[in-house]
Amino acid sequence: MSRAALTEAVAAVQGYVRYLQRLGVTDLPVTFVPPIRAGTPTPQTLPSASRTSPQVPSTTAAPVVRLAQLAAAVRDCRNCRLHTGRTQVVFGTGDPTAALVFVGEAPGYDEDIQGEPFVGQAGQLLTRIIAAIGLTREQVYMLNVIKCRPPNNRNPQPDEVAACRPILQEQLACLQPRVICALGTFAAQTLLQTEEKISRLRGRFHMLGAIQVMPTYHPAFLLRNPQYKRAVWEDMQRIQGVLGLR
Ligand code: URA
Repeated sequence: MSRAALTEAVAAVQGYVRYLQRLGVTDLPVTFVPPIRAGTPTPQTLPSASRTSPQVPSTTAAPVVRLAQLAAAVRDCRNCRLHTGRTQVVFGTGDPTAALVFVGEAPGYDEDIQGEPFVGQAGQLLTRIIAAIGLTREQVYMLNVIKCRPPNNRNPQPDEVAACRPILQEQLACLQPRVICALGTFAAQTLLQTEEKISRLRGRFHMLGAIQVMPTYHPAFLLRNPQYKRAVWEDMQRIQGVLGLR
């Protein structure tokens, strides 16, 4: 690992520690984290992509550390054309040990500026949906299939999805949530490798390795079509049930 990459990884871990402090965590169990070796751990939770995986640390490092290292490693990603128009890579946010992960499509204007997924109008609705199942944004993890904002919020193109897939794959390998809530057609189809419509995918769990995936409508779609809120609420209750939150 280069000195610059190491500095970035340290900064990422420091950021995570500050995040824990904000949550009120005052001490951590001391465990030995073995030295970082180069390697490409890739549990096949998603089919492999044609591109090489980003240079990520050894699977022997703790998942939270690996996730922080991955974030640092992809900060300057130029694997597809989207890097030319982005303000920053929007990697993901929340509790890396969360049982529940929300997967969206791609950053929009606000997310691109703030560097955090789901902070715009759709994100505010998502925050309320999360609150409705008794959780906060800080207690779940949020990420997108695509890490850089597509121009004018157009749909991501297949080669962009392929370029970003190794990052998504590694994120999920580090996070190992019990449940993924796939928000909207694009996230559901990408995760489940299907072209089935969201209306047919939602309402039941699908297995992705050991992870239970619940596809549901995207909050941006709900803002335009509030009549679908009931369906989303039903899907959220299914997630609540599986996670023992009710
Ligand atoms: N829509 C998404 O899919 N992701 C975001 O982060 C914001 C809006």
